[in-house]
Amino acid sequence: MAYKTIIEDDIDILVAGAGLGGTGAAFEARYWGKDKKIVIAEKANIDRSGAVAQGLYAINCYMGTRWGENNPEDHVRYARMDLMGMVREDLAFDMARHVDSTVHQFEEWGLPLMKDPKTGNYMREGRWQIMIHGESYKPIVAEAAKKSADKVFNRVCVTHLLMDDGKENRVAGAVGFNVRTGNYHVFKSRTVICGAGGASNIFKPRSVGEGAGRVWYAPWSSGSAYGLMIEAGAKMTQMENRIVLARFKDGYGPVGAYFLHLKTYTQNGLGEEYESKWFPALTEMVGKEYLDTEGQHLSHKPIPTCLRNHAFISEVNAGRGPIHMVTMEAFQDPHLEEIGWHNFLGMTVGQAVLWAATDVDPKYENPELTTSEPYVMGSHATGCGAWCSGPEDVSPDEYYWGYNRMTTVEGLFGAGDAVGGTPHAFSSGSFTEGRLAAKAACKYIDDGKAEGIRVSEKQIADLKEKIYKPLETYKVYSNEIVGGSVNPNFINPRQGLDRLQKLMDEYCGGFGVNYMTNEKLLQIGLKKIKMLEEDMEKIAASDIHELLRAWELNHRVRTSESVFQHTLFRKETRWPGYYYRGDAMKLDDQNWHVLTVSHRDRKTGEYTMEKAPLYHLVGDE
Ligand code: AMP
Repeated sequence: MAYKTIIEDDIDILVAGAGLGGTGAAFEARYWGKDKKIVIAEKANIDRSGAVAQGLYAINCYMGTRWGENNPEDHVRYARMDLMGMVREDLAFDMARHVDSTVHQFEEWGLPLMKDPKTGNYMREGRWQIMIHGESYKPIVAEAAKKSADKVFNRVCVTHLLMDDGKENRVAGAVGFNVRTGNYHVFKSRTVICGAGGASNIFKPRSVGEGAGRVWYAPWSSGSAYGLMIEAGAKMTQMENRIVLARFKDGYGPVGAYFLHLKTYTQNGLGEEYESKWFPALTEMVGKEYLDTEGQHLSHKPIPTCLRNHAFISEVNAGRGPIHMVTMEAFQDPHLEEIGWHNFLGMTVGQAVLWAATDVDPKYENPELTTSEPYVMGSHATGCGAWCSGPEDVSPDEYYWGYNRMTTVEGLFGAGDAVGGTPHAFSSGSFTEGRLAAKAACKYIDDGKAEGIRVSEKQIADLKEKIYKPLETYKVYSNEIVGGSVNPNFINPRQGLDRLQKLMDEYCGGFGVNYMTNEKLLQIGLKKIKMLEEDMEKIAASDIHELLRAWELNHRVRTSESVFQHTLFRKETRWPGYYYRGDAMKLDDQNWHVLTVSHRDRKTGEYTMEKAPLYHLVGDE
C-alpha cells in the first residue's frame, strides 16, 4: 500500500478523540504532567469536533455551590432518580464535586455565560442548567486543549488501540489513518484517554432521504469510544440503557430550554393534558418508589425522562397524537420569543431553518414533538460506557482498582460518553471527567505502571494491513459490479449501515417497533449481527472517505453487539419509554437492582455477562 507510515513515539498521554471529554483530558494532563508528552488524535478538527461542535445553548450540569444553590449529593440524587436508580454514584459524585470549577474556567476563557440581572449569578434555566451564548463553545474550549498538547493530529481517525506485547491487558497506544492524505498513523503511548464519543445512527433514524443526516446526537458520533474499548477487551456497563429523546419533529430541536425556561408544556392532538393519565398504570409497572401517583401528588420531580417518554408514546399509540409543545403562550412575550429562536440558532440551526421553510411560527402554531430513534451514549439522561475505576476516597472495593476513570484495561482511561454509569454529565461534566482521567493517568505513569511497554513491528504491520483492506477489496473486485453499487463480492459501508440500522430497529427495540423487544427477537438479532460481522470482512471502500465510513461502521457494529448482549441479559423493563422487554414488562428490583457488566474476549469474541452491585452511597434527602 502506498500510504506512508508515520510513527509518533514516546507519548505519555494520548487523547483519542477530542470532544469535550478529550479536551478536558489534554488540558488537565498538562497541569499534572508539566514535562509529559501529550498528543491528541482527532477524526475531525478539534475546533469543531464532538457533540458540541455545532454549539450548545446551555450548560446542563452546574451545581452553583458557591451561591448555595446545590451540592454534589443533590445531583447524585437527581441523576439516580432520573435513571431509575442505575447510576455509579461514586463517579457521579466525583464529577459533580468538580464540575463548577470547570464552568468557571470556561467563563475565564471567554465563553459568554448569561447572568441573572437581579442576583449577578449565572442565569438558571432549570435547577441544574445555566444559559450560555454557546455557538462558539467548542472552539473556545479547544483552544485550551491545543495550548496544552505537544501535538494535535487533526483528521486522524483512530481505528484500533495498540496493546502491549509484553504484558497482557495493558494498552500501548493507538493507530489510525489520516482521512485526507490516507497516511497510516501509529501512536506509541504509555496511556490512552479515550474520548471518542457515543453512538448515533446505529438504530434506524426517523429521517430519510436527503434528511438522513439529521439526527439528534452528532451524526459523526460513530460509537468509536465503545468500538475501540470493547475491541481492546475493556469491560462495559449499562450498554442496554439506550436513550430516546422527545424532540421537535424532524429538526430534533432540544426541548430543555422550552420546558424549563420558557415554561412551555405539552398537549395531545385534542389539546388535552395527557401525561398524568398514564401514571397509575405506569406506577404498576415500575413501583411506587419510582413514581408516586397518589392523589395529584408526584413525589419525584421532575418525572424521570424515560417515564415522560412512556406517556408520550402511549398517548400517540392510543390514537390521540400528535403531541404538541404549547409555545403560543410563551411566545407572546417578546423576550421569551427571542430566547426560543436563539436557542436553536445557537445550537440546532436546522430546527429554525425547518420551521422557516415549512411555515411554522411557534407564536401562532404549537409545533409538533416526536420521540426519536434510540441513541447509545453516556452523558445525557443515560449512562452507557466502560466499567471504570472510581476515586479512592469514595468508591467501594468493587468500584476501585487504583486509578480514577481507568477501564479494566491497564493504562486505558475514559472520558465523557466513554465512561459508563455517569449520566447527566453533559458537556461540562464530560470535560470534568477528562480532567479527572488525565490526573489519574499522570499518576499511573509516575507510579511506574507504564514501564517496559513493547509494541512489535508485527502488530503495527498487521493493523496496517487490516485498516486498508477495504481499499484492496474494492480494487480487486470493483469491475464485478453488476448494477449500481451491487457486487457479489463485497458490500459498501452504506449498505452495511442500512443493514445494521434495520436489524437494530426491528430486533433491539427501535422506533419502528415502538421500542419493543423480547428474548426471542434479541437472539435472532444477535445471530444476524454475527452474519453482518462476517460480511464486514468483505467491506469495500472506493476511496479514503469510504474507508472512514467503513471503520465508523465497524465501531457501530461492535457497539450494537454489546447493546444486544446487555439488553438480552437484563430481564426486566427498567426504563419504560426507552425500551420495553415484552417478555418482562415490569421493573424488577428484586432481581435487577444491579449494574450490568459485560466482557468480550479480545481473542475469541465470546461475551460474558455479570451483575455488579449497585451501591447507594448518597442517602435520601
Ligand atoms: P434537552 O434540551 O432535552 O437536551 O435537555 C436539556 C436539559 O433539560 C437536561 O438537563 C434535561 O434533563 C432537562 N429537561 C428537559 N426536559 C425536561 C423536563 N420536561 N423536565 C425537567 N427537565 C427537563
